[in-house]
Amino acid sequence: MLCVVSDKAKGKTSYTILGGGPAGLMTAHLLARDTDARVTLIDRASRLGGNAGSFQVEGITTDYGSHRFHPAAEPEVMAEVKALLGDDLLLRPRHGRIRLGGRWIHFPLKLGNALKSLPVPFALSLIRDMVTGPLRRAPDGPATFSSVLLKGLGPTISKNFYFPYVRKLWGLDPDHLAVKLAERRVSGSSVSKILMKMARMLPGLRSETTGRFFYPRKGFGQICQTMEESARQNGTDIQLETGIERIERDGNTVTAVITKDKTGHETRHDGSQILSTIPLTALLGAMDPPPPAEVIEAARAIRYRGMILIYMVLETGQFTEYDAHYFPEVSIPISRMSETKNYNNVTAPEGLTVLCAELPCDPGEEWWDMSDEELGQAFCSWLGGVDLPVNVPVKSVITRRLSHAYPVYDIDYADRFETVDNWLESLDGLVNYGRQGLFAHDNTHHAFAMSFGLADCLSPDGTFDRQKWARYREKFSHHVVED
Ligand SMILES: Cc1cc2nc3c(=O)[nH]c(=O)nc-3n(C[C@H](O)[C@H](O)[C@H](O)COP(=O)(O)OP(=O)(O)OC[C@H]3O[C@@H](n4cnc5c(N)ncnc54)[C@H](O)[C@@H]3O)c2cc1C
Repeated sequence: MLCVVSDKAKGKTSYTILGGGPAGLMTAHLLARDTDARVTLIDRASRLGGNAGSFQVEGITTDYGSHRFHPAAEPEVMAEVKALLGDDLLLRPRHGRIRLGGRWIHFPLKLGNALKSLPVPFALSLIRDMVTGPLRRAPDGPATFSSVLLKGLGPTISKNFYFPYVRKLWGLDPDHLAVKLAERRVSGSSVSKILMKMARMLPGLRSETTGRFFYPRKGFGQICQTMEESARQNGTDIQLETGIERIERDGNTVTAVITKDKTGHETRHDGSQILSTIPLTALLGAMDPPPPAEVIEAARAIRYRGMILIYMVLETGQFTEYDAHYFPEVSIPISRMSETKNYNNVTAPEGLTVLCAELPCDPGEEWWDMSDEELGQAFCSWLGGVDLPVNVPVKSVITRRLSHAYPVYDIDYADRFETVDNWLESLDGLVNYGRQGLFAHDNTHHAFAMSFGLADCLSPDGTFDRQKWARYREKFSHHVVED
Protein backbone atom coordinates (compact mmCIF):
# COMPACT_ATOMS: atom_id res chain seq x y z
CA MET A 1 0.00 0.00 0.00
CA LEU A 2 1.27 3.50 -0.80
CA CYS A 3 0.41 6.25 1.64
CA VAL A 4 0.78 9.86 0.46
CA VAL A 5 1.95 12.61 2.79
CA SER A 6 1.42 15.83 0.89
CA ASP A 7 1.96 19.21 2.43
CA LYS A 8 1.72 21.19 -0.76
CA ALA A 9 -2.05 21.34 -0.64
CA LYS A 10 -2.11 22.53 2.97
CA GLY A 11 0.33 25.30 2.09
CA LYS A 12 2.56 24.25 4.96
CA THR A 13 6.34 24.30 4.61
CA SER A 14 7.68 20.83 5.10
CA TYR A 15 11.09 19.21 5.25
CA THR A 16 11.99 15.56 4.82
CA ILE A 17 15.43 14.89 6.28
CA LEU A 18 17.22 11.76 5.07
CA GLY A 19 19.64 10.32 7.64
CA GLY A 20 19.54 10.82 11.40
CA GLY A 21 23.22 11.17 12.26
CA PRO A 22 24.52 14.40 13.83
CA ALA A 23 23.88 16.46 10.65
CA GLY A 24 20.29 15.27 10.15
CA LEU A 25 19.44 15.38 13.86
CA MET A 26 20.81 18.88 14.41
CA THR A 27 18.80 20.06 11.40
CA ALA A 28 15.63 18.43 12.75
CA HIS A 29 16.24 19.95 16.19
CA LEU A 30 16.76 23.48 14.77
CA LEU A 31 13.92 23.42 12.22
CA ALA A 32 11.39 21.84 14.57
CA ARG A 33 12.24 24.28 17.35
CA ASP A 34 12.67 27.50 15.38
CA THR A 35 10.14 27.25 12.55
CA ASP A 36 6.50 26.27 12.04
CA ALA A 37 7.43 23.73 9.39
CA ARG A 38 6.47 20.10 9.45
CA VAL A 39 9.65 18.03 9.87
CA THR A 40 10.06 14.33 9.05
CA LEU A 41 13.29 12.45 9.70
CA ILE A 42 13.98 9.13 7.97
CA ASP A 43 16.75 6.68 8.86
CA ARG A 44 17.24 3.15 7.68
CA ALA A 45 18.89 2.15 10.98
CA SER A 46 16.98 1.12 14.10
CA ARG A 47 18.50 3.98 16.12
CA LEU A 48 19.57 7.55 15.51
CA GLY A 49 23.04 9.08 15.90
CA GLY A 50 24.82 7.58 12.90
CA ASN A 51 28.53 7.07 13.52
CA ALA A 52 28.31 9.39 16.52
CA GLY A 53 25.82 7.33 18.55
CA SER A 54 26.43 5.18 21.64
CA PHE A 55 25.20 1.83 22.87
CA GLN A 56 25.64 -0.44 25.89
CA VAL A 57 28.04 -3.35 26.17
CA GLU A 58 27.68 -5.33 29.43
CA GLY A 59 26.22 -2.24 31.12
CA ILE A 60 28.98 0.12 29.91
CA THR A 61 28.02 2.88 27.50
CA THR A 62 30.37 2.85 24.56
CA ASP A 63 30.78 4.66 21.22
CA TYR A 64 31.35 3.72 17.60
CA GLY A 65 35.11 4.15 17.96
CA SER A 66 36.81 6.91 19.91
CA HIS A 67 34.68 10.07 19.82
CA ARG A 68 35.42 13.40 21.50
CA PHE A 69 33.68 16.74 21.13
CA HIS A 70 36.43 19.17 20.20
CA PRO A 71 36.70 22.64 21.74
CA ALA A 72 37.54 23.89 18.20
CA ALA A 73 33.78 23.91 17.47
CA GLU A 74 32.45 27.24 16.17
CA PRO A 75 31.02 29.39 19.01
CA GLU A 76 27.42 29.00 17.77
CA VAL A 77 27.77 25.20 17.66
CA MET A 78 29.56 25.05 21.01
CA ALA A 79 26.85 27.17 22.65
CA GLU A 80 24.10 24.91 21.28
CA VAL A 81 25.79 21.72 22.49
CA LYS A 82 26.42 23.26 25.91
CA ALA A 83 22.78 24.33 26.12
CA LEU A 84 21.59 20.84 25.14
CA LEU A 85 23.85 18.96 27.55
CA GLY A 86 24.12 21.39 30.48
CA ASP A 87 26.16 19.95 33.36
CA ASP A 88 26.39 16.62 31.53
CA LEU A 89 29.01 18.05 29.17
CA LEU A 90 32.31 17.29 30.88
CA LEU A 91 35.65 18.93 30.07
CA ARG A 92 38.21 16.13 30.29
CA PRO A 93 42.00 16.02 29.97
CA ARG A 94 43.33 14.17 26.92
CA HIS A 95 45.49 11.31 28.03
CA GLY A 96 46.50 9.06 25.16
CA ARG A 97 49.59 7.37 23.79
CA ILE A 98 51.10 6.78 20.35
CA ARG A 99 53.31 3.81 19.60
CA LEU A 100 56.35 4.90 17.59
CA GLY A 101 59.51 2.88 17.04
CA GLY A 102 58.41 0.45 19.74
CA ARG A 103 58.05 3.26 22.34
CA TRP A 104 55.02 4.98 23.84
CA ILE A 105 54.72 8.75 23.45
CA HIS A 106 52.07 10.85 25.10
CA PHE A 107 49.33 12.13 22.78
CA PRO A 108 48.68 15.02 22.38
CA LEU A 109 52.44 15.49 22.12
CA LYS A 110 54.19 17.13 25.07
CA LEU A 111 57.67 18.56 24.55
CA GLY A 112 59.34 17.07 27.65
CA ASN A 113 57.72 13.68 27.20
CA ALA A 114 58.56 13.53 23.48
CA LEU A 115 62.21 14.38 24.16
CA LYS A 116 62.41 11.70 26.86
CA SER A 117 60.47 8.98 25.04
CA LEU A 118 61.53 9.20 21.39
CA PRO A 119 64.28 6.76 20.37
CA VAL A 120 67.53 8.78 20.00
CA PRO A 121 68.08 8.02 16.25
CA PHE A 122 64.47 9.04 15.59
CA ALA A 123 64.86 12.32 17.50
CA LEU A 124 68.13 13.10 15.66
CA SER A 125 66.46 12.49 12.28
CA LEU A 126 63.61 14.77 13.30
CA ILE A 127 66.04 17.54 14.20
CA ARG A 128 67.82 17.05 10.86
CA ASP A 129 64.45 17.30 9.02
CA MET A 130 63.65 20.45 10.95
CA VAL A 131 66.95 22.14 10.15
CA THR A 132 66.90 21.17 6.48
CA GLY A 133 63.16 21.96 6.15
CA PRO A 134 63.47 25.35 4.44
CA LEU A 135 65.75 23.82 1.76
CA ARG A 136 63.60 20.73 1.20
CA ARG A 137 61.99 20.39 -2.23
CA ALA A 138 58.87 18.42 -3.00
CA PRO A 139 59.59 15.19 -4.91
CA ASP A 140 59.22 15.45 -8.70
CA GLY A 141 55.88 14.58 -10.28
CA PRO A 142 52.28 15.51 -9.53
CA ALA A 143 51.52 16.56 -5.96
CA THR A 144 50.10 13.79 -3.78
CA PHE A 145 49.49 13.23 -0.07
CA SER A 146 52.97 11.79 0.21
CA SER A 147 54.80 14.57 -1.67
CA VAL A 148 53.10 17.30 0.38
CA LEU A 149 53.98 15.61 3.66
CA LEU A 150 57.55 14.85 2.64
CA LYS A 151 58.01 18.52 1.78
CA GLY A 152 56.28 19.93 4.87
CA LEU A 153 57.20 17.44 7.57
CA GLY A 154 60.24 15.66 6.18
CA PRO A 155 60.87 11.95 5.80
CA THR A 156 61.15 10.94 9.47
CA ILE A 157 57.64 11.74 10.67
CA SER A 158 56.11 11.06 7.23
CA LYS A 159 57.60 7.60 6.81
CA ASN A 160 57.36 6.47 10.42
CA PHE A 161 54.00 7.92 11.34
CA TYR A 162 51.73 9.24 8.60
CA PHE A 163 52.50 6.86 5.72
CA PRO A 164 51.92 3.57 7.57
CA TYR A 165 48.91 5.14 9.34
CA VAL A 166 47.17 6.19 6.09
CA ARG A 167 48.00 2.85 4.45
CA LYS A 168 46.11 1.22 7.29
CA LEU A 169 43.24 3.72 7.37
CA TRP A 170 42.53 3.87 3.63
CA GLY A 171 44.15 0.69 2.36
CA LEU A 172 46.06 2.78 -0.21
CA ASP A 173 49.64 3.82 -0.71
CA PRO A 174 50.27 7.51 0.25
CA ASP A 175 51.33 8.14 -3.38
CA HIS A 176 47.78 7.21 -4.41
CA LEU A 177 46.09 9.60 -2.01
CA ALA A 178 45.11 13.16 -2.86
CA VAL A 179 46.71 16.35 -1.54
CA LYS A 180 43.29 17.29 -0.15
CA LEU A 181 43.61 14.52 2.42
CA ALA A 182 46.69 16.23 3.84
CA GLU A 183 44.83 19.56 3.92
CA ARG A 184 41.78 18.08 5.68
CA ARG A 185 43.45 15.61 8.04
CA VAL A 186 46.92 16.83 8.91
CA SER A 187 46.62 19.92 11.10
CA GLY A 188 50.34 19.83 11.99
CA SER A 189 51.51 20.00 8.37
CA SER A 190 54.98 21.33 9.14
CA VAL A 191 57.46 20.74 11.93
CA SER A 192 57.06 24.34 13.12
CA LYS A 193 53.26 23.87 13.41
CA ILE A 194 53.81 20.69 15.46
CA LEU A 195 56.26 22.54 17.72
CA MET A 196 53.77 25.40 18.13
CA LYS A 197 51.13 22.88 19.16
CA MET A 198 53.53 21.36 21.70
CA ALA A 199 54.45 24.82 22.98
CA ARG A 200 50.78 25.58 23.57
CA MET A 201 50.68 22.57 25.91
CA LEU A 202 53.25 24.16 28.23
CA PRO A 203 51.94 25.47 31.58
CA GLY A 204 51.38 29.21 31.35
CA LEU A 205 50.78 29.09 27.57
CA ARG A 206 47.82 26.76 27.48
CA SER A 207 44.21 27.93 27.44
CA GLU A 208 41.45 26.34 29.52
CA THR A 209 40.70 23.84 26.75
CA THR A 210 44.23 23.08 25.43
CA GLY A 211 44.88 19.36 25.68
CA ARG A 212 41.26 18.79 26.75
CA PHE A 213 38.07 17.66 25.11
CA PHE A 214 34.36 17.74 25.84
CA TYR A 215 32.61 14.48 26.51
CA PRO A 216 29.04 13.86 27.67
CA ARG A 217 28.57 12.11 31.00
CA LYS A 218 26.45 9.34 29.40
CA GLY A 219 28.57 8.69 26.31
CA PHE A 220 29.18 10.62 23.09
CA GLY A 221 25.77 9.55 21.80
CA GLN A 222 24.13 11.67 24.50
CA ILE A 223 24.60 14.70 22.22
CA CYS A 224 22.46 13.08 19.52
CA GLN A 225 20.04 11.77 22.12
CA THR A 226 19.32 15.28 23.43
CA MET A 227 18.71 16.53 19.88
CA GLU A 228 16.41 13.58 19.22
CA GLU A 229 14.40 14.35 22.39
CA SER A 230 14.11 18.01 21.43
CA ALA A 231 13.12 17.21 17.84
CA ARG A 232 10.44 14.75 19.02
CA GLN A 233 9.09 17.19 21.60
CA ASN A 234 8.79 19.83 18.89
CA GLY A 235 6.80 17.53 16.67
CA THR A 236 9.35 15.90 14.36
CA ASP A 237 8.02 12.68 12.86
CA ILE A 238 10.92 10.22 13.21
CA GLN A 239 10.73 7.09 11.07
CA LEU A 240 13.35 4.43 11.81
CA GLU A 241 14.14 1.22 9.92
CA THR A 242 12.84 3.00 6.88
CA GLY A 243 14.69 2.94 3.57
CA ILE A 244 14.64 5.32 0.62
CA GLU A 245 12.91 3.49 -2.23
CA ARG A 246 13.26 6.24 -4.80
CA ILE A 247 13.50 9.97 -5.23
CA GLU A 248 11.34 11.23 -8.05
CA ARG A 249 12.30 14.19 -10.16
CA ASP A 250 10.82 16.10 -13.00
CA GLY A 251 13.79 17.47 -14.93
CA ASN A 252 15.83 19.46 -12.43
CA THR A 253 13.13 19.51 -9.78
CA VAL A 254 12.90 16.84 -7.13
CA THR A 255 9.22 16.19 -6.55
CA ALA A 256 8.90 13.38 -4.01
CA VAL A 257 10.71 10.80 -1.93
CA ILE A 258 9.19 7.36 -1.53
CA THR A 259 10.19 5.46 1.61
CA LYS A 260 9.53 1.90 2.72
CA ASP A 261 9.39 0.78 6.35
CA LYS A 262 10.33 -2.64 7.67
CA THR A 263 6.77 -3.96 7.22
CA GLY A 264 6.96 -3.12 3.52
CA HIS A 265 4.64 -0.12 3.87
CA GLU A 266 5.48 2.61 1.36
CA THR A 267 5.02 6.34 1.96
CA ARG A 268 5.24 9.08 -0.63
CA HIS A 269 6.53 12.39 0.82
CA ASP A 270 5.27 14.97 -1.57
CA GLY A 271 5.86 18.69 -1.85
CA SER A 272 8.54 18.96 0.76
CA GLN A 273 12.13 20.18 0.60
CA ILE A 274 14.41 17.14 0.86
CA LEU A 275 17.47 17.56 3.06
CA SER A 276 19.77 14.61 2.52
CA THR A 277 22.69 13.49 4.70
CA ILE A 278 22.86 9.90 3.40
CA PRO A 279 25.89 8.77 1.36
CA LEU A 280 25.83 10.59 -1.96
CA THR A 281 26.19 7.26 -3.77
CA ALA A 282 22.94 6.03 -2.14
CA LEU A 283 21.25 9.33 -2.96
CA LEU A 284 22.15 9.07 -6.64
CA GLY A 285 21.16 5.40 -6.72
CA ALA A 286 17.64 6.33 -5.60
CA MET A 287 17.09 8.98 -8.31
CA ASP A 288 14.18 8.30 -10.63
CA PRO A 289 14.83 8.93 -13.48
CA PRO A 290 18.53 8.17 -12.95
CA PRO A 291 21.15 10.92 -13.32
CA PRO A 292 23.00 11.44 -16.63
CA ALA A 293 25.46 8.69 -17.60
CA GLU A 294 28.60 10.72 -16.74
CA VAL A 295 27.28 11.33 -13.22
CA ILE A 296 26.54 7.64 -12.70
CA GLU A 297 29.99 6.80 -14.06
CA ALA A 298 31.68 9.24 -11.67
CA ALA A 299 29.65 7.99 -8.70
CA ARG A 300 30.56 4.39 -9.43
CA ALA A 301 34.21 5.09 -8.62
CA ILE A 302 33.47 6.96 -5.36
CA ARG A 303 34.44 4.82 -2.39
CA TYR A 304 33.98 4.93 1.37
CA ARG A 305 36.29 3.03 3.71
CA GLY A 306 34.69 0.59 6.14
CA MET A 307 35.68 -0.30 9.67
CA ILE A 308 35.16 -3.14 12.13
CA LEU A 309 34.87 -2.12 15.75
CA ILE A 310 35.85 -4.91 18.13
CA TYR A 311 34.57 -4.48 21.69
CA MET A 312 36.29 -6.69 24.23
CA VAL A 313 34.87 -6.77 27.75
CA LEU A 314 37.51 -7.53 30.38
CA GLU A 315 36.96 -8.63 33.96
CA THR A 316 38.94 -5.83 35.51
CA GLY A 317 38.06 -2.31 36.65
CA GLN A 318 40.56 -0.63 34.31
CA PHE A 319 42.93 -2.03 31.67
CA THR A 320 45.11 1.08 31.30
CA GLU A 321 44.87 4.67 32.54
CA TYR A 322 44.79 5.98 28.92
CA ASP A 323 41.73 7.06 26.97
CA ALA A 324 43.16 6.06 23.58
CA HIS A 325 46.15 4.27 22.10
CA TYR A 326 47.15 5.18 18.52
CA PHE A 327 48.92 2.61 16.38
CA PRO A 328 50.53 4.02 13.24
CA GLU A 329 52.82 1.00 12.91
CA VAL A 330 51.94 -1.70 10.38
CA SER A 331 52.84 -4.50 12.82
CA ILE A 332 49.34 -4.11 14.33
CA PRO A 333 46.33 -3.88 11.98
CA ILE A 334 44.17 -1.69 14.24
CA SER A 335 44.56 2.07 14.00
CA ARG A 336 43.35 2.96 17.50
CA MET A 337 42.12 1.40 20.72
CA SER A 338 40.01 3.26 23.23
CA GLU A 339 38.95 2.39 26.77
CA THR A 340 35.52 3.92 27.04
CA LYS A 341 35.39 4.26 30.83
CA ASN A 342 38.42 6.54 30.75
CA TYR A 343 36.54 9.12 28.64
CA ASN A 344 34.03 10.07 31.30
CA ASN A 345 35.67 8.54 34.36
CA VAL A 346 32.75 6.24 35.00
CA THR A 347 33.48 3.50 37.55
CA ALA A 348 30.31 1.39 37.28
CA PRO A 349 29.84 -1.43 36.62
CA GLU A 350 32.50 -2.46 39.11
CA GLY A 351 35.15 -4.86 37.90
CA LEU A 352 34.44 -4.55 34.16
CA THR A 353 35.92 -2.47 31.39
CA VAL A 354 35.48 -2.40 27.59
CA LEU A 355 38.23 -1.93 25.03
CA CYS A 356 37.23 -0.82 21.55
CA ALA A 357 39.59 -1.57 18.65
CA GLU A 358 39.21 0.28 15.34
CA LEU A 359 40.10 -2.04 12.46
CA PRO A 360 39.89 -0.27 9.07
CA CYS A 361 38.53 -2.87 6.68
CA ASP A 362 36.20 -3.16 3.69
CA PRO A 363 33.60 -5.82 2.92
CA GLY A 364 35.38 -8.63 1.09
CA GLU A 365 38.63 -8.21 3.05
CA GLU A 366 39.89 -11.07 5.21
CA TRP A 367 38.68 -9.67 8.52
CA TRP A 368 35.21 -8.61 7.37
CA ASP A 369 33.64 -12.08 7.53
CA MET A 370 35.40 -13.30 10.68
CA SER A 371 33.36 -14.23 13.73
CA ASP A 372 33.39 -12.12 16.90
CA GLU A 373 35.38 -14.86 18.64
CA GLU A 374 38.06 -14.92 15.93
CA LEU A 375 38.35 -11.14 15.95
CA GLY A 376 38.54 -11.15 19.77
CA GLN A 377 41.39 -13.65 19.69
CA ALA A 378 43.20 -11.61 17.05
CA PHE A 379 42.72 -8.43 19.14
CA CYS A 380 44.28 -10.14 22.19
CA SER A 381 47.28 -11.31 20.21
CA TRP A 382 47.80 -7.85 18.63
CA LEU A 383 47.79 -6.29 22.10
CA GLY A 384 50.30 -8.88 23.29
CA GLY A 385 52.59 -7.79 20.44
CA VAL A 386 52.68 -4.18 21.65
CA ASP A 387 53.42 -4.90 25.32
CA LEU A 388 49.78 -4.72 26.39
CA PRO A 389 49.14 -8.39 27.22
CA VAL A 390 45.60 -9.26 28.24
CA ASN A 391 46.24 -11.04 31.54
CA VAL A 392 42.66 -10.86 32.85
CA PRO A 393 39.64 -12.95 31.84
CA VAL A 394 37.78 -11.86 28.69
CA LYS A 395 34.06 -11.77 29.52
CA SER A 396 32.75 -11.28 26.00
CA VAL A 397 33.53 -9.88 22.55
CA ILE A 398 31.10 -8.17 20.22
CA THR A 399 31.67 -6.33 16.95
CA ARG A 400 30.03 -3.61 14.91
CA ARG A 401 30.70 -2.96 11.23
CA LEU A 402 30.64 0.55 9.75
CA SER A 403 30.22 0.56 5.99
CA HIS A 404 30.88 4.33 5.70
CA ALA A 405 33.59 5.21 8.22
CA TYR A 406 35.79 7.43 6.02
CA PRO A 407 35.50 8.94 2.53
CA VAL A 408 38.41 7.69 0.37
CA TYR A 409 40.36 10.61 -1.16
CA ASP A 410 42.28 8.70 -3.79
CA ILE A 411 44.25 10.60 -6.36
CA ASP A 412 41.31 10.97 -8.80
CA TYR A 413 38.45 11.49 -6.37
CA ALA A 414 38.20 15.29 -6.73
CA ASP A 415 37.05 15.33 -10.38
CA ARG A 416 34.56 12.55 -9.75
CA PHE A 417 33.15 14.23 -6.68
CA GLU A 418 32.86 17.53 -8.53
CA THR A 419 30.87 15.91 -11.34
CA VAL A 420 28.43 14.37 -8.86
CA ASP A 421 28.30 17.43 -6.62
CA ASN A 422 27.64 19.85 -9.50
CA TRP A 423 24.75 17.73 -10.68
CA LEU A 424 23.20 17.45 -7.21
CA GLU A 425 23.63 21.20 -6.66
CA SER A 426 21.71 21.84 -9.90
CA LEU A 427 18.56 20.20 -8.49
CA ASP A 428 15.75 22.18 -6.93
CA GLY A 429 13.92 20.74 -3.95
CA LEU A 430 16.94 18.88 -2.60
CA VAL A 431 19.97 19.81 -0.50
CA ASN A 432 22.83 17.35 -0.08
CA TYR A 433 25.10 17.81 2.98
CA GLY A 434 26.66 16.10 6.03
CA ARG A 435 29.79 13.98 6.10
CA GLN A 436 28.43 11.30 3.78
CA GLY A 437 26.71 13.72 1.41
CA LEU A 438 29.61 16.13 0.93
CA PHE A 439 32.15 13.32 1.11
CA ALA A 440 33.87 15.26 3.86
CA HIS A 441 36.46 14.24 6.39
CA ASP A 442 34.89 16.02 9.26
CA ASN A 443 34.20 16.02 12.96
CA THR A 444 30.80 16.11 14.55
CA HIS A 445 31.08 19.87 15.17
CA HIS A 446 31.63 20.33 11.42
CA ALA A 447 28.48 18.31 10.67
CA PHE A 448 26.63 20.58 13.13
CA ALA A 449 28.07 23.68 11.43
CA MET A 450 26.57 22.41 8.16
CA SER A 451 23.14 22.11 9.82
CA PHE A 452 23.37 25.65 11.18
CA GLY A 453 24.42 26.92 7.74
CA LEU A 454 21.58 25.07 6.07
CA ALA A 455 18.97 26.35 8.52
CA ASP A 456 20.23 29.88 7.82
CA CYS A 457 19.66 29.38 4.07
CA LEU A 458 16.02 28.27 4.45
CA SER A 459 13.33 30.94 4.58
CA PRO A 460 10.02 30.38 6.44
CA ASP A 461 8.28 29.34 3.20
CA GLY A 462 10.97 26.74 2.57
CA THR A 463 12.75 28.67 -0.18
CA PHE A 464 16.43 27.77 -0.25
CA ASP A 465 19.02 30.54 -0.79
CA ARG A 466 21.56 28.83 -3.07
CA GLN A 467 23.95 31.76 -3.20
CA LYS A 468 24.21 31.91 0.55
CA TRP A 469 24.65 28.13 0.61
CA ALA A 470 27.53 28.41 -1.88
CA ARG A 471 29.27 30.75 0.58
CA TYR A 472 28.73 28.25 3.39
CA ARG A 473 30.03 25.45 1.18
CA GLU A 474 33.21 27.43 0.61
CA LYS A 475 33.57 27.75 4.39
CA PHE A 476 32.94 24.03 4.95
CA SER A 477 35.68 23.19 2.45
CA HIS A 478 38.22 24.58 4.95
CA HIS A 479 37.17 22.33 7.84
CA VAL A 480 40.20 20.50 9.20
CA VAL A 481 39.75 17.34 11.23
CA GLU A 482 40.79 17.32 14.89
CA ASP A 483 42.19 13.97 16.03
C1 LIG B 1 35.94 5.82 13.93
C2 LIG B 1 35.46 7.25 13.94
C3 LIG B 1 35.88 8.11 14.94
C4 LIG B 1 35.44 9.43 14.96
N1 LIG B 1 35.84 10.26 15.98
C5 LIG B 1 35.34 11.51 16.07
C6 LIG B 1 35.68 12.36 17.17
O1 LIG B 1 36.46 12.00 18.06
N2 LIG B 1 35.09 13.58 17.24
C7 LIG B 1 34.23 14.03 16.28
O2 LIG B 1 33.72 15.15 16.41
N3 LIG B 1 33.90 13.26 15.22
C8 LIG B 1 34.44 12.02 15.09
N4 LIG B 1 34.11 11.22 14.03
C9 LIG B 1 33.28 11.78 12.95
C10 LIG B 1 31.79 11.75 13.27
O3 LIG B 1 31.37 10.44 13.55
C11 LIG B 1 31.07 12.33 12.06
O4 LIG B 1 31.55 13.63 11.80
C12 LIG B 1 29.57 12.41 12.21
O5 LIG B 1 29.01 11.18 12.57
C13 LIG B 1 28.98 12.88 10.87
O6 LIG B 1 27.59 12.99 11.00
P1 LIG B 1 26.63 12.85 9.74
O7 LIG B 1 25.25 12.99 10.24
O8 LIG B 1 27.09 13.77 8.68
O9 LIG B 1 26.88 11.36 9.18
P2 LIG B 1 26.61 9.92 9.86
O10 LIG B 1 26.95 9.93 11.31
O11 LIG B 1 27.33 8.93 9.01
O12 LIG B 1 25.03 9.71 9.72
C14 LIG B 1 24.44 9.34 8.50
C15 LIG B 1 23.07 8.73 8.82
O13 LIG B 1 22.43 8.38 7.58
C16 LIG B 1 21.79 7.11 7.73
N5 LIG B 1 21.71 6.49 6.41
C17 LIG B 1 22.73 6.04 5.64
N6 LIG B 1 22.25 5.55 4.47
C18 LIG B 1 20.90 5.68 4.51
C19 LIG B 1 19.85 5.36 3.60
N7 LIG B 1 20.11 4.81 2.41
N8 LIG B 1 18.60 5.64 3.97
C20 LIG B 1 18.32 6.23 5.18
N9 LIG B 1 19.29 6.54 6.07
C21 LIG B 1 20.55 6.28 5.75
C22 LIG B 1 22.72 6.35 8.69
O14 LIG B 1 22.02 5.29 9.33
C23 LIG B 1 23.15 7.45 9.65
O15 LIG B 1 22.27 7.55 10.74
C24 LIG B 1 34.57 9.90 13.95
C25 LIG B 1 34.15 9.03 12.94
C26 LIG B 1 34.60 7.72 12.91
C27 LIG B 1 34.15 6.80 11.81
